Amino acid sequence: MQTTVEHDPDMTSAEPDTDARTGADDRAAEGYAVPGFDSIAHLAAASMEVAIVLLVLNNGSAYWYSRDADPERTHVLHPLYLEAARRGTGQVLADIAADARYRDTPPLSGTASAALRFFACEPVYTLSGRHVGALCVMDPVPRTGLDDAGHAALRDAARLAGAGVVLGGYLGRTDPVTQLPHRSAFFEDLRARQLNGAQRAWLISIEVAPVERFNAFVRAMGFPYADELMRAVAARVQAWMPPATRLYQVGVTRFAAVLPEAEAPLGAEQLDDLVARLRSPFDCLDIPLTLQPGVGLLDLDVRRLDGADPLRQVMSASHAAQHSPRGWALYERSQDERHRQEFFLVTELAAALTERTELYLDYQPRVRLSDGRCVAVEALARWRHPTLGEVPPGQFVPLAERAGLMRSLTGWVLEHSVAQLAGWRKAGYDIGLSINISNADFDADLVTRLEAVASRHAVDPRGLELEFTESTLLLHNDATSRHLAAVRELGAGIAIDDFGTGYSNLASLRQMPATCLKIDQSFVRSMDANRHDAAIVRSMAALARDLGFRVVVEGVENRRIYEAVRRMACDEVQGFYVSRPLPAAAVPAWLERAADWHHGEGTA
Ligand code: C2E
Ligand code: CA
Ligand code: CA
Repeated sequence: MQTTVEHDPDMTSAEPDTDARTGADDRAAEGYAVPGFDSIAHLAAASMEVAIVLLVLNNGSAYWYSRDADPERTHVLHPLYLEAARRGTGQVLADIAADARYRDTPPLSGTASAALRFFACEPVYTLSGRHVGALCVMDPVPRTGLDDAGHAALRDAARLAGAGVVLGGYLGRTDPVTQLPHRSAFFEDLRARQLNGAQRAWLISIEVAPVERFNAFVRAMGFPYADELMRAVAARVQAWMPPATRLYQVGVTRFAAVLPEAEAPLGAEQLDDLVARLRSPFDCLDIPLTLQPGVGLLDLDVRRLDGADPLRQVMSASHAAQHSPRGWALYERSQDERHRQEFFLVTELAAALTERTELYLDYQPRVRLSDGRCVAVEALARWRHPTLGEVPPGQFVPLAERAGLMRSLTGWVLEHSVAQLAGWRKAGYDIGLSINISNADFDADLVTRLEAVASRHAVDPRGLELEFTESTLLLHNDATSRHLAAVRELGAGIAIDDFGTGYSNLASLRQMPATCLKIDQSFVRSMDANRHDAAIVRSMAALARDLGFRVVVEGVENRRIYEAVRRMACDEVQGFYVSRPLPAAAVPAWLERAADWHHGEGTA
């Protein structure tokens, strides 16, 4: 019995010369075998009584086990195996010779070049559900099929192999998708340079896209697309890199390399060239996509590695570069400080979202002008950090967006505000609830989440309204229109928030199934001082109402503004004059006091 490992670079990517440089060389191949494959294969061969077991991955790697073959024999990756690796379903060929496709080119068993006749395969998935290839079993003797016990054995073996592939990624220091060495290898190699007496080196790190955007791709396109994309990115970077330079995969969407001393200093044109290559659209699985790459550089003193964290530093530069027009940036200490603080806040926010009690909600009432009734409250997220104190939503909401935490935050807000609404409804307060929804939440799942939370708390979805900003709605396409239509079908309302701050015209927004339009407070607050703004608010309100929206004016801070707005085409008002955002516990008392709000004064 023995295992051999092969790699078919043609399967990996369009660029044929990538392998020589990635380190997926012979040494790598030996060291990076799938842990436990021999035992899995041995078990499968024995229980199914087959001569050959093959694990073929859709990145082109193949791992062989044969009961009795000549160890020197090189196996050829037959089209049958490649197809099995790509396909996500199992297959049984009782007799390959009976199949017209393979009759003329039967796969060979290795035993005196006998042809293989029986073939069966089962897809292999990693623990996280990513399709990575197939486990195939073969035998020179044809069969009538595979019985139930055989099927079960094959499935179990494929499952074990899937777990092994994941382990291989960790233990073997390679990424299962790109086959590039991992972060730990990066540090070991850097250390080796130090021992070899190197003094300076340029570290380069490449970030593919902001996490939030990348997560959105994965949600929209699935893992196979994301995997393919990462391979294509790696290939482009490698085509740019100086020969004999290794590329490492240091994060899901991050690459790094140490450029040899001879190459330093890098010229601006070279870096512009790399950015241009990464910015040009990727045609991945026939779907074109443009990334937002960031390239970071760090001039590293290799002699002072101890205690330093060069990878994190260079990554702070690439992170900053994603949002710069040039797309690349040198490491800067001040930038790093900001990044560090942001990183601290992100981890704190992630913790607050899961295990702590620091998040809470305030509710700001919204009053109908026709009868002065409070028709709804808007849930506003608050974060009281144990050492930092109150972190304003203007800081942590954008942070959550950048860090990919927005869906969790929205989930938290949905859950708690709808539970609260159910409580108020039980107590006899007949009000609605508005919830702010961000860009990242905007997918098919949104309706499912909304429906689930409403039914969990037995709240009629018609009492709920989702607020989207104008810029979110402007990203609209057929898919977003469908998601919005589904929200409407459920009965929930849709409001266009902060209207006037973006660049949309009302007519284009009219195509959206929105029910309500909230005029942004920036115009409203200055209405007092600026007659121009009063005119803007008046005409926006009139136009919006003509188009059939319910009009809400936000940021009504004092009586004068309130009186002015009352004479406009405005249905509801919200602002400090009506009420500041209130803690949940204060809402019932406010509702009691405000039962006939319009007869009295405001509270601000
Ligand atoms: P927004 O959705 O426009 O929320 C209204 C903001 O205006 C609130 O600020 C509120 O306190 C403030 N405000 C209300 N009336 C007045 C007024 O008369 N004068 C002035 N000067 N301000 C007024 P807050 O709570 O600081 O929230 C800021 C933004 O953070 C919100 O703007 C919203 O975009 C975002 N945000 C808050 N909570 C959430 C949330 O749960 N999810 C999402 N996605 N965003 C949220
Ligand atoms: Ca809002
Ligand atoms: Ca608003």
